[in-house]
Amino acid sequence: MKVYLKENCDIDEIKEKLDANNVFFEVHKIDDKLVLFVDDLYLKEIKQIIDSRLIEEISPIYDLKLTLRLNHPDDTIIKVKNLEIGGKKKIIIAGPCAVENEESMKKIGSLIKECGAHILRGGAFKPRTNPYSFQGLQEDGLNVLKMIGDECNIPIVSEITNADYLEKFVECVDIIQVGARNMQNFALLEKLGKTNKPILLKRGFNNTIEELLCSAEYIMKNGNHQVILCERGIRTPLSYTRSTLDLSSVAVLKELTHLPVIVDPSHGTGKRKLVFPMSRAALSAGADGLMFEAHITPNKALSDSEETISLEELAQIIKSI
Ligand code: PEP
Ligand code: MN
Repeated sequence: MKVYLKENCDIDEIKEKLDANNVFFEVHKIDDKLVLFVDDLYLKEIKQIIDSRLIEEISPIYDLKLTLRLNHPDDTIIKVKNLEIGGKKKIIIAGPCAVENEESMKKIGSLIKECGAHILRGGAFKPRTNPYSFQGLQEDGLNVLKMIGDECNIPIVSEITNADYLEKFVECVDIIQVGARNMQNFALLEKLGKTNKPILLKRGFNNTIEELLCSAEYIMKNGNHQVILCERGIRTPLSYTRSTLDLSSVAVLKELTHLPVIVDPSHGTGKRKLVFPMSRAALSAGADGLMFEAHITPNKALSDSEETISLEELAQIIKSI
């Protein structure tokens, strides 16, 4: 960010204070004005260290009026039924990759709260790389989710893949998920911005943190300020894991934005054995919650079996974190 200082400031005193607080900065002159160049990460420190009467303007690298903490210092808390996402309590979302049938979904729905989860997930529309893979139960899947949400009194999250079904999503789920593949589907984001449903926005696997924030801004600019960000791993040359779970993004996002940030260690690693250690790491990095793929018979899951944990494992993980 650029911090434009007023003429009456004592630059040596400011430099000393920044040094003493371990803030890395450079001093430049623009149009005869003294300007500090500081990483956006240090916004909080800048505001604490430099008297606001000595600052003419702070201009962050990205001009995101709604998403950045600059204009909204307090954490945003999103209410879903009686839950608060982004508050003190860590929120756990869990459920199968896909809604496979009514029977298995009912079993999972009835057990998931006992495992310690707060929100049930399940994909009704599955964006699959191979067009011949199971594509989800689609509208029928949404009906199943709605029924289970009502019966088990648990909030539901499910992924929307195009705006054709928007009304149906608004009717059936409590949180609408935008998957990694649609993070920059701007037309969809704008339409979601006109709804009053919380949106779980996943980071695209080739997208930067700034691009994730720009996508959140698309939703917020259209009126819907209930956006939850989700780190789910990015594509890198490392191939042992399905994705490289970028947990530094969590610490960065918690500084840059007031929006809640959750982590998906299932898609983030692609391996069920890594879900537990990466959950702990995610919470240490400051995540407000976690999203797990969990199934009653993980080895028989129709999609993403390799990263799916059992309900017993889910309960153990929640207990130990
Ligand atoms: C999902 O959560 O079901 C999913 C498909 O994840 P992602 O969009 O992160 O790949
Ligand atoms: Mn999945």
